[in-house]
Amino acid sequence: MSKKGDMFYAWTTDAAIAEKAELGGAVTGLMKFMLEKKVVDAVFAVKKGQDIYDAVPTLVTDPKDLAQTAGSLHCGTLLMSKLVKKYLDGASGMRIAMTVKGCDAMGLYELAKRQQVNLDNIVMIGVNCGGSVSPVTARKMIREKFGVDPDTVHKEEIDKGQFIIEYEGGHKGISMDELEEAGFGRRPNCRRCKMKVPRQADLACGNWGVMGDKAGKATFVEVCSEKGAKILDDAIKAGVIKTEAAPEKGIEMRKKVEGSMLKLGDKWRAKDFAALGEGRERLKKIIKDTSRCIKCYSCIEACPICYCVECSTKKPYFVPPGQVPPSFMFHLIRFAHIADSCVNCGQCQELCAMDIPNSLHMHAQQVELEKMFGHVPGVDMSLPLLALVEEREERDRLHAIGSDQIFDIFK
Ligand code: FAD
Ligand code: SF4
Ligand code: SF4
Ligand code: SF4
Ligand code: SF4
Repeated sequence: MSKKGDMFYAWTTDAAIAEKAELGGAVTGLMKFMLEKKVVDAVFAVKKGQDIYDAVPTLVTDPKDLAQTAGSLHCGTLLMSKLVKKYLDGASGMRIAMTVKGCDAMGLYELAKRQQVNLDNIVMIGVNCGGSVSPVTARKMIREKFGVDPDTVHKEEIDKGQFIIEYEGGHKGISMDELEEAGFGRRPNCRRCKMKVPRQADLACGNWGVMGDKAGKATFVEVCSEKGAKILDDAIKAGVIKTEAAPEKGIEMRKKVEGSMLKLGDKWRAKDFAALGEGRERLKKIIKDTSRCIKCYSCIEACPICYCVECSTKKPYFVPPGQVPPSFMFHLIRFAHIADSCVNCGQCQELCAMDIPNSLHMHAQQVELEKMFGHVPGVDMSLPLLALVEEREERDRLHAIGSDQIFDIFK
């Protein structure tokens, strides 16, 4: 019987899945097992659409359709958690197994704290994540840095610090450091991300630490919950997943890579936040950046923390309607509501019609709040800072100083 903290090499015994899978197909094998045994009603994963730059979220209810979801799409910059809330009713009436990167898992936790998704109905199969590349950047990078027509590329991978492509005519790899120095590579939020092994999930799966004859053919699985342990044990018993204990050397190697990735995340945070300035300078920079805003609402639509039926940014006494760019209050409202809980998923920046570095702005504020209050969003079910504000106490305090309004909006 496996238990939380156990570590294995794992692979599927299903040939069709193994052929399409990234590293032995343990993830898709487990998904298929759960669907066949009716542990879940559906699997929520990602499949290739038109090409490798087109990652399509997909809900699968027939186990025979699962093989098409195997494989890693590094140019897939989706956030799966918001989609569960938006389109799957927060898993309230359906049991779902889903593949989650660190940001997906963090988003699910933040939504669960707010009763917007039901984690009891979700099995999270985590995938380690070194980062993803925006499809637009990937195409430009492949054309300009690799000298290859992006439409001829049929496979990409990120391995040993390199972005590697296979295309009609060969394969080529360039170090991520070199690509990032040239302004390409991973998304800016991914460079700052420190959720490399999503241990909030039920299992955390990845290639780091897989060595010897299993390299490229098996996935390193860390058991992160009792739920995860039971699913893995049952799948092994049924003969659909094979495992062997991860060797000490592999465990050490994985730990080392994770450590270096965390250091790299710190390096990028220091660089990006320094470029944003401090205090008044930072405020001025944010006001300048957001002066390009066309109020398209993409940032709000995409953010996992934004789900309010009546968004304050639409209230005319906060943000006067009919103005483009909107008053800075539009952005201040988002900072006030989200900064304590931002999971740095990058969606508000990725999808911004005006390329405003929204995610950088919000992440920088979140890290400041984390320093002040010690609250880390997305890692567990501890409540966001704003939930801990005692309204009664705050009102009494304001009353004592002669006002019951934080600011008088009706003046
Ligand atoms: P498969 O059976 O091939 O299943 C892969 C699963 O991932 C499928 O469910 C698929 O739908 C889903 N998926 C594919 N693309 C995405 C996406 N963009 N977002 C969400 N789900 C997706 N492991 C490491 O150890 N180090 C890394 O740096 C690393 N980076 C990764 C970056 C990304 C963007 C992804 C998706 C995965 C990354 N992994 C990393 C995990 C690794 O690539 C494999 O997914 C893992 O080892 C499982 O292999 P498998 O053969 O069992 O998976
Ligand atoms: Fe991966 Fe982190 Fe980027 Fe999400 S934010 S895609 S977990 S590196
Ligand atoms: Fe993600 Fe942006 Fe929302 Fe932060 S503010 S959680 S980066 S969408
Ligand atoms: Fe809700 Fe504030 Fe986001 Fe609007 S900006 S959806 S009010 S959290
Ligand atoms: Fe403004 Fe960009 Fe948000 Fe659209 S996505 S409302 S342009 S900040």
